[in-house]
Amino acid sequence: MPAITVDDITVLPRIAALDPATARERPVASITNAPSGFEGEGFPVRRAFHGVDLGMLDPFIHLDQMGEVEYAPGEPKGTPWHPHRGFETVTYIMDGTFEHSDSNGGGGVITNGDTQWMTAGAGILHIEKPPESLLVSGGLFHGIQLWVNLPKAQKWSPPRYQDIRAGEVGLLASADGGALVRVIAGELAGHTGPGSTYTPMTLVHATLSPGAELAMPWRADCNALVYVLAGHGTVGAERLPVQTGQLAVLGPGNVLRAAARPHQESRSPNLNILVLGGRPIREPVAWAGPFVMNTRDEVIQAFEDYQAGRLGSIPAVHGAPSTLTVSLPTDAT
Ligand code: MN
Repeated sequence: MPAITVDDITVLPRIAALDPATARERPVASITNAPSGFEGEGFPVRRAFHGVDLGMLDPFIHLDQMGEVEYAPGEPKGTPWHPHRGFETVTYIMDGTFEHSDSNGGGGVITNGDTQWMTAGAGILHIEKPPESLLVSGGLFHGIQLWVNLPKAQKWSPPRYQDIRAGEVGLLASADGGALVRVIAGELAGHTGPGSTYTPMTLVHATLSPGAELAMPWRADCNALVYVLAGHGTVGAERLPVQTGQLAVLGPGNVLRAAARPHQESRSPNLNILVLGGRPIREPVAWAGPFVMNTRDEVIQAFEDYQAGRLGSIPAVHGAPSTLTVSLPTDAT
């Protein structure tokens, strides 16, 4: 899991040791297991938020861990063309490469620690797939896709991309120097990540070496979710055990604590966690398939708009007919 790494963690700014007079460590509210399934054309995913009430996740909607998988040549999978409206998709690739194209002619390639933050807003069609080179060679693939809700006032924003390169991510070290903390968006301990968000939130990928402790100040008005990408550790004030594929939802407080077990399995020598926190939007959520709106009528409208081509149309493929061609058998009589 390379994402972005550093040769010498000791040169990074450190998260200051906590002041016990003001620190209120967040307890664990729940720990759930992410079931495995398949997405798109058949790439393996873990559904990180499965079984958790949307109210506890708000403003986050959905989180898939894609891989980790070692593809054979010819095997890498993507998604077909599909629409979105009313929220943002955040795709963070730790290993391998993913290619995006959309109905506005936008898109790009993200790889090894890059993030694409796509605001679907009023509506867009896109396709997410491995590039031809990865399809030919096969190889390691590991990423996440997070869905971030938009408040009613921003659901109709024009679609937008933020291409966040691995080298722009804010890098910090834990007080003990044993954890590398990557701030992708939001603010942590006075350091700001590159991602711009509509509502306040923090998105962090942390790698804890065996035995390392990570205690971070965490906004009291935001929620706190810890998803274990790989490894064994503990979370929360109670230091409850967690491992690969588990999500911990933490309760109220202003400090978030996690630690790596002193002994890890050889296939994942470190504890890797994704830490999310956002200020809840607290609006009704009407969600069906690729649309996340406030009311059922708005979702029905989204399906109708999609069917009518109002969310955009799939760009023409070179050499293919641009209009529907129907061929009927000739009548021999
Ligand atoms: Mn999508």
